[in-house]
Order: sequence, then C-alpha cells, then structure tokens
Amino acid sequence: MIDGHVHLERGPLTKEYALEFVKEAVNKGIDDLQILDHTHRFKEFEEMYEPMKKIGGGQKKWLDNDFRSTLDEYYELIREMKQLDLPIKVTYGLEVCFQISYLPFLRDIFSRNHFDFLVGSVHAVNNIAYDSSWSVEELWTKYPVDYIYTKYFEESFALIESDLFTQIGHPDTIKMFGYRPSFDVLPYYDRLAKLANKHHVKLENNTGCYYRYHHPDKGLAPDVLKVFKDNGADMITVSDAHRPEDVGSYIKDIWDITMG
Ligand SMILES: [Zn+2]
Ligand SMILES: [Zn+2]
Repeated sequence: MIDGHVHLERGPLTKEYALEFVKEAVNKGIDDLQILDHTHRFKEFEEMYEPMKKIGGGQKKWLDNDFRSTLDEYYELIREMKQLDLPIKVTYGLEVCFQISYLPFLRDIFSRNHFDFLVGSVHAVNNIAYDSSWSVEELWTKYPVDYIYTKYFEESFALIESDLFTQIGHPDTIKMFGYRPSFDVLPYYDRLAKLANKHHVKLENNTGCYYRYHHPDKGLAPDVLKVFKDNGADMITVSDAHRPEDVGSYIKDIWDITMG
C-alpha cells in the first residue's frame, strides 16, 4: 500500500524525525511512502505568498509564522535519508501551493530544484484559503459560490497543464465547508481526469478531510471517485498526515475502492 502525501510540518528537518514517519508507515502496512512538506515552510517560496499575506487576519498570522527552513536544509535531510537502508520505499518531494499567476516563478524554481515527486495543490481562490478557520468569513460568505468553484477548477486545470507536477493534491477538498455550486461539478471532474491522463498526473484519494476535519467522506466523494475510475485515471492513496502517528490513516479502508 502507498501513502503518497505525509508532512514533516510539525517537526525539524532531521533524520530522527523523518524516521518516525517511516516507522509508523511500517506499522500500518505501508510499503511505499512519499514524504513532503508545504512550500510555505521554505524561504525560497516566501515571495509567492505576499498576495495571500495582504488578506490579513488569520491568514497573515499563519503565514507570518512560517518560511522557517531552506531547501538546502531539506536536501541535506534527503541525502542523509537516502544513505540509509530502509525497510520500505521512501521518496521525497514538496506540496506546492499552485497559483496561475506564479507559474513563471514556479517554473524558474523547479528548473533549478529537483525532487522525486511534486504534488501541486490549489489551496486558495483570489488569494484566500478555502479550507481554513477564516475561510467562511473571508471567502465563502464574501464571494458567490459558483465563482469560487469556477476559479478553483480553472486553477486546477492550469496546474495539470503546467506539466510541473506528478500529482494533484486533494482534488475535491473544496467541498470541505459544504458550500455547493448551482452547477454539476462532475463534468469538471471528468475534464480534470482526462487532463490528468493526458499529462500523466496522479489523482489523490486523500483521507485527511475525514480524520483531520471530520468530513463524512473517507476521501473523495463517491461520485467524484467514480468519474476518476471511469476515466481509468492513475490514482494514489494518501493520508495527508501532519504528524508521524497519522501516517497511513484509513489507507486500508480506501485501498480497494481506489486501486481495485
Ligand atoms: Zn494541501
Ligand atoms: Zn498536504
């Protein structure tokens, strides 16, 4: 089983901390682990978040406390980890906050920095996060829901078409607070799956929403998963763990419906 998205976020970039994730993966029967962290951990990406900081409030406070590491520090950890003889396959990458307006910036950074894999995720619409504690007040009740979803899909399609990423993060977490557009989202997910096939991008079935935010879906909404499966899309199971003990969470429960 694979857990294709676990964050080092809450700890230091040390071998000891990363090995806690590997140990928990083994405990949960995971034999292929993709370790990553958000781009907002790394100084090199700070410039890309300036428009998000300008929103102020909780979002500014959150970002003001980050960018505490450098990519060189991460590369040093990856080098040390790759020298170890680990019991399972472990690879290293990033979860990149994708924004169309910063595509040239991202292309430049990733022409110079290479990773085993890159997850691209749309986390914000109009520079406002859609799934955070401030999102209802700052985004969902300020803008029309149809507009938010339309922008979200535009960004998601551009993410895949950029050919920068090997995987798209949590493709339906936009559902988190229960706001639904007036139009059917399934034709959009159908287009997403077709683009992902064309550009060889994996689609996540991400259990993070379920155990981290208590959303009733254990990963993708069943109808979205069906659209992906009907397209024969390349799927990947992920926990989005932000702590070692969460590695592999509920992967066993979604494995058969995702990969079967
Ligand atoms: Zn994410
Ligand atoms: Zn994540």
